[in-house]
Amino acid sequence: MYANVIIDISHEKLDKTFQYKVPQELREKLAVGMQVEVPFGNGNRRNTGYVVELTDEPEYDITKLKEIVGVAEGGIPIESQLIALAGWMRENYGATMNQALKTVLPVKQKTKVKKQRLVRLALDRDEAEEKLALFQKKHHMARTRLLASLMEQNLLPYEAVTGKLHITASVIRAMEEMGILTVEEKRAYRSPLGEMKRGGGRVVLNEGQREVAARVWEDFSRGLRKTYLLRGVTGSGKTAVYIEIIEKLVSTGRQAIVLIPEIALTYQTVLRFFQRFGERVSILNSKMSQGERYDQFERARDGELDVMIGPRSALFTPFARLGMIIIDEEHETSYKSETMPRYHARETAIARAKMAGASVLLGSATPSIESYYHARNGDYILLQLDKRIEEKPLPACYTIDLREELRQGNRSILSEKLQELMEQRLAKHQQIMLFLNRRGLAGFVSCRACGHVMKCPHCDVSLSQHMGGKLVCHYCGYTQSAPQTCPECGSKYIGGFKAGTQKIEEIVKKRFPKARALRMDLDTTRSKDGYEKILSAFANQEADILIGTQMIVKGHDFPNVTLVGVVAADLSLHVSDFHGAERTFQLITQAAGRAGRGDLPGEVVIQTYSPRHYAIELAGRQDYEGFYEAEIAYRSFAHYPPCGHMLVMMVASADEMTAILSIELLAKKIRQAQDKGKLTGLQVIGPAEAAVAKIKDVYRRVLYFKHQEYRTLVQMKDVLEQFISRHREFQSVAVQFDFDPVNGF
Ligand code: ADP
Ligand code: ZN
Ligand code: ZN
Repeated sequence: MYANVIIDISHEKLDKTFQYKVPQELREKLAVGMQVEVPFGNGNRRNTGYVVELTDEPEYDITKLKEIVGVAEGGIPIESQLIALAGWMRENYGATMNQALKTVLPVKQKTKVKKQRLVRLALDRDEAEEKLALFQKKHHMARTRLLASLMEQNLLPYEAVTGKLHITASVIRAMEEMGILTVEEKRAYRSPLGEMKRGGGRVVLNEGQREVAARVWEDFSRGLRKTYLLRGVTGSGKTAVYIEIIEKLVSTGRQAIVLIPEIALTYQTVLRFFQRFGERVSILNSKMSQGERYDQFERARDGELDVMIGPRSALFTPFARLGMIIIDEEHETSYKSETMPRYHARETAIARAKMAGASVLLGSATPSIESYYHARNGDYILLQLDKRIEEKPLPACYTIDLREELRQGNRSILSEKLQELMEQRLAKHQQIMLFLNRRGLAGFVSCRACGHVMKCPHCDVSLSQHMGGKLVCHYCGYTQSAPQTCPECGSKYIGGFKAGTQKIEEIVKKRFPKARALRMDLDTTRSKDGYEKILSAFANQEADILIGTQMIVKGHDFPNVTLVGVVAADLSLHVSDFHGAERTFQLITQAAGRAGRGDLPGEVVIQTYSPRHYAIELAGRQDYEGFYEAEIAYRSFAHYPPCGHMLVMMVASADEMTAILSIELLAKKIRQAQDKGKLTGLQVIGPAEAAVAKIKDVYRRVLYFKHQEYRTLVQMKDVLEQFISRHREFQSVAVQFDFDPVNGF
């Protein structure tokens, strides 16, 4: 048995590992993440390192390998925990140990460390007054001035002393020698929070909120560590509950990580945490430089922080006394990584919490089917907030059948009802949000007269339109030509749906020339603060209508919004994977949740070609339970997660033929094993083109596996990985694995 050890984990090049022999007496005991003592370099100097991998295969001449001396004694450093977590991720999601380590450990930058010098009073009150009187008597003006200032404020920045107070360095030195003050150096961190003001913003929890917070906190203080799922309707005050629990936790010296999707990580949200935790809270976001991010991790490790807020990667904050991980909007797809290891933050948070003795709290108005399934099974504890704050009513919903509109001769994308309600709102100076759900615009084909959607006869997912008009299934590769007329009703209005946000903006401006419209999508938010600017302009009522993609569904509270229009609810319904109904239900419910959050009641118009689809019907009634029942029946019938598991293998190559041949070779290998009676219960689907079949001239092919047991798929991945590493054919291809896919390839 051999151990790969990294010696210096704060080094930029994590990739350098050293291999050691594992002595007999350590074989049982040693695990990934452990801190070990090893001989290092020519002099065999003793060094500490971390085990990142255990293997049976020596990578070097065995006679030259040194032996691990022992396991380091003392407490377990936070690095060990994170390395063990990386090991868990590598095993469960597929990746090299290196990729996994780079995901969990912050990379140190070669930037210069900024130091801040501080002057601190070293005397107690009486001594200081005595000295002050002495200096005054002797007319030592500079010393008097400095001492008086220090008595007012114990700690002063060195620059303020030499600058504003005009005290020279030699006076400071003399006073230091007299034992009056000390000069100390502190690392100056770049704080991402800038000039936020503390205080204010405290809310008194209502009864429902109090019950939820009390339940979680009482379990925690009794030593119970669990995973909770908080389902709270939009506007029910989940964030206030999080803050309450964290405050309790922090008062006992524990730390908390709060994951929030980047898109919802607005100034308003961060401010709410800052008002409670001040400098003890920090954030991470993708606009920060590597150096800034590293600083925040350092502060966390040094115990300067109690709370870290951020998207997925904040999960790896090196808190040594982690007590809780909260995942807000837990259903968001951004919690699944799109690079290797393709981990899910929810499962990884649960794994980390287990290692750290922490609890996990998941929150959402529309929990993922996965999480609700676990809550139903008793794996998670279900908590609910089913009323909005101040019992504000949920908005009234109208579902508009766009097929009917077409029959009535209205070919505009705005239905009569929506136009009528928009007109009313504009007259009353209330605001409107129009939401175009762009997910899956990749091109399903549907009939505008009857709503029929072209689906794969084998997989029950929508076919995607490809170049040249053919329709393809991304799961199994089934292909057919695009129909000229609808196979259901014979109408010629069959094709892909094309309107984008820009198009809708044009239509709105034409129909309501006096209204002020803002558009928010990838194009208008590219600049650094584009997103915040548009949101705050709308919040300040500088516009009447906000048109946007799913981006507008999250974030700010707009109290003056009383009408939300979902322009084409079907767009996400027919994405080419099994999540279509779930995404649609979530997006409509969240969009509807934007209306009527202020004092005025809200209304929602859902436009669709499939008004009878369960996702749309139940979203219109805001019936989560009903939706869950219908959706879990579908998943169970088709063995889609969480009722069974799925592994996608993607092979990418710059040469299309190589991509095709290699994935076929792998498929053949699996099928041969199946023919020999191995891998029972495994279903192999494909190979097929990936949903995005080509990126930057690299061709991508996928193969799907389904099995009841996650472990079996993990074992299969291991076998495939080994097979790939042993065969030359795969040298020029990149292979990726994705378990229980969320975003797909
Ligand atoms: P959610 O995250 O569930 O959508 P939020 O936590 O954002 O809801 O709360 C919605 C709004 O209600 C926020 O403006 C928040 O400040 C306010 N709020 C939350 N709890 C209370 C409370 N107990 N009393 C009064 N206002 C509250
Ligand atoms: Zn039709
Ligand atoms: Zn298919």
